[in-house]
Amino acid sequence: KEPVCECNSCYGGRDCSLFLTGCAANADSGDPYFLEPFWTKHASKSAVLVAGWHRMSYVFPDQSRISAELERHIREIHTIVGNAVTEGRYIVFGAGSTQLLNAAVNALSTSNNFNSSPSSVVASIPYYSLYQMQTEFFRSMDYMFQGDAALLQNTSDATKNVVEFVTSPNNPDGQLKKAIFQGPNAKAIYDRVYYWPHFTAIPAPADDDLMIFTISKLTGHAGTRFGWALVKDESVYQRMTQHILMSSLGISRDAQLRALKLLNVVLETGGREIFEFGYHTLKKRWENLTNILSLSNRFTLQKIEPKYCNFFKNIRDPSPAYAWVKCEREEDKDCYEVLKQEANVYGRPGAEFGAEDRYVRLTLLRSQDDFDLLLQRLNQLVLDERKSK
Ligand code: PMP
Repeated sequence: KEPVCECNSCYGGRDCSLFLTGCAANADSGDPYFLEPFWTKHASKSAVLVAGWHRMSYVFPDQSRISAELERHIREIHTIVGNAVTEGRYIVFGAGSTQLLNAAVNALSTSNNFNSSPSSVVASIPYYSLYQMQTEFFRSMDYMFQGDAALLQNTSDATKNVVEFVTSPNNPDGQLKKAIFQGPNAKAIYDRVYYWPHFTAIPAPADDDLMIFTISKLTGHAGTRFGWALVKDESVYQRMTQHILMSSLGISRDAQLRALKLLNVVLETGGREIFEFGYHTLKKRWENLTNILSLSNRFTLQKIEPKYCNFFKNIRDPSPAYAWVKCEREEDKDCYEVLKQEANVYGRPGAEFGAEDRYVRLTLLRSQDDFDLLLQRLNQLVLDERKSK
């Protein structure tokens, strides 16, 4: 009987070693498999074993030793990396950063005045699509998704309560962004899930009022569903905590235990080993991709300048999580379709980020096999373009 080669659909045959040449290059989902080799190397010390009788009770955050220990580890890693100020901040745990994003929208827009109009929730294009999907899905009387921040800025609604998502570095284009709304009625949710040395220079510790992080992009364990928010204001912290309690009665003890174990390994070398590995892997991928697309007049990539990094203590090259590709030819209006039809490459269409379909996002975070296939396909596409000149 033929085995089912689940690990990678590009392989088949008796022992899953046969490369299936026609298979599609998956450059869509942001699953961070690029960190898998690091964890294979540290397999035993990162393993968790929990006996069946152990830790069966509900999670009461104030009484859990693991939660307190995990909070200490989170503060320590931010201090070592220098990417966020944790002094005077409360920490809220969430089932991934996803749960915290909505808890934050809810906390920042909850009003005591039933006559006030709902807060406008905005983000700058191109933005991560979940902000819109989630805000619209959890329809509330307190908030409403209004789309592009720049558009709202020029309307009379700009003076009302605004909750702005700021993704820094940004998904999809890797830019370090700042809130465009300022003033007493403007509140920002800084989504800093990519603000780690794998993906960007760390110019200074972020000091925003509400910042969101996740283990998904720090260690790569997206399936553990563990994230945290650093919150300055006590009443916002209380409202976010209430939201988490109402939606899930706290964060899984097992997820917390696993996160703790993983952070222990990260901290063993003061973060150096995992961040050097992550940075060098993504930098190499970015270089390879840039080299191939520099030979093309048809496709261009976002520009990211080398920058001084306070963690590595030197000027470092770009190593973004995603490539934000633009199709430059007039007739290539749908870049996702162009890559799909002509190269069997599946990215994520620009429209999903509120942008034109002339853009497509390609993930650089997947396994080396996935990335090599993507490169091979793009290389052939660019060779064909040059031959046809
Ligand atoms: N924010 C951004 C900008 C993301 O790209 C992602 C994942 N792709 C998330 C939040 C959600 O991450 P998680 O829920 O796994 O923490």
